[in-house]
Amino acid sequence: MAPAMKALRKIKAAKGLAMESVSVPAIGPTDVLVRVKAASICGTDLHIYGWDRWSQGRIKPPVTLGHEFCGVVERAGEEVTAVKPGDFVSAEMHVNCGHCHQCRLGQAHICQNLRIIGIDQDGAFAECVKIPASNIIRLDPAIPERYGAILDPLGNAVHTVLAGEIAGQTVLVTGCGPIGLMSIAVAKACGSSTVFATETNAQRRAMAERMGADVVLNPAAEDAVKRIAGETGGTGVDVLLEMSGNSHAIQQGFRALRAGGRASLLGIPTESVPLDLVNDVIFKGATVQGIYGRRMYDTWVKMIALLKAGRLNLEPLFGEREPLDKFENAFAKLQSGLPGKILLYPNGIPR
Ligand code: NAD
Ligand code: ZN
Repeated sequence: MAPAMKALRKIKAAKGLAMESVSVPAIGPTDVLVRVKAASICGTDLHIYGWDRWSQGRIKPPVTLGHEFCGVVERAGEEVTAVKPGDFVSAEMHVNCGHCHQCRLGQAHICQNLRIIGIDQDGAFAECVKIPASNIIRLDPAIPERYGAILDPLGNAVHTVLAGEIAGQTVLVTGCGPIGLMSIAVAKACGSSTVFATETNAQRRAMAERMGADVVLNPAAEDAVKRIAGETGGTGVDVLLEMSGNSHAIQQGFRALRAGGRASLLGIPTESVPLDLVNDVIFKGATVQGIYGRRMYDTWVKMIALLKAGRLNLEPLFGEREPLDKFENAFAKLQSGLPGKILLYPNGIPR
């Protein structure tokens, strides 16, 4: 019988998650088995925990959650040459097919047959996780494990910020959840001039300031578009990084964008969003981009270079740690709007 391990799983089509004992995954010749050091909870995991409409259509229980993590290679398949047992790694958890139209064009992040580890197949909220070797990212051991555990959302931020010109640009980040907060730090590190941030939650606004935003606004208490116009000499911002998925924030973001500006949209609205295309896109000559995942592997290369150069200070995001079995505490804190990330330790919290 295969050895057993602990895993945090969606076991039935209902609210909640459960710790279960499952077999350590068997690996094929091109797979890598990673012992998870630290994993982090994503907003998507909260949706799956709560069993919202999206999860009901997407998740097929039983499945182990977790797609933000780092760990140490435990075992590598016989054809794997890029990593060896003992290496410190993370992984791109979007697995592309390699043969569809977009994959052939070098756009693997929007593969037609994308599968996500931790969503469509067993993920990293477990003692060990199986990853195709092609998706493994070897990390410099100097990168702290707290950073290694959040490279997936940090990659979303890096992908969005670097999807166009950023140095010397004025930027508006709408929504300061973890990815919005990381985007503030990335934009500042890459030389943007003034970074505006909007956020309705007070704790998250305070965190936006700690992450380096120059002007933090509460759109529920003041006219953010007017304020941004005032601060930019009536021009508006060069770049909109939409990180909320909230329709009001999206509409405000477009109104705050200058003519000729770039709108990069990462936030995922749950309903369709009415936009004033004539005034906010067409007459503005705006460039609008949808952003999905991380570019494979352009985003990873740039993100790791920024980390190695010591350019990204994400320390304000960290502090909360729980062993995997105490997942209920972690999910409750995040559901109550805690800013920042919570790290889960499936193999125990290191001293
Ligand atoms: P999050 O839900 O923690 O953050 C969203 C933030 O927006 C919250 O802090 C919320 O208070 C704030 N907000 C709500 N209404 C607002 C308003 N009117 N003005 C300003 N702020 C407002 O989410 P996250 O984990 O940081 O992710 C950000 C978004 O990106 C989410 O919509 C998520 O679903 C999406 N996402 C997209 C991708 C992708 O590949 N496109 C990947 C990961 C996450
Ligand atoms: Zn493909």
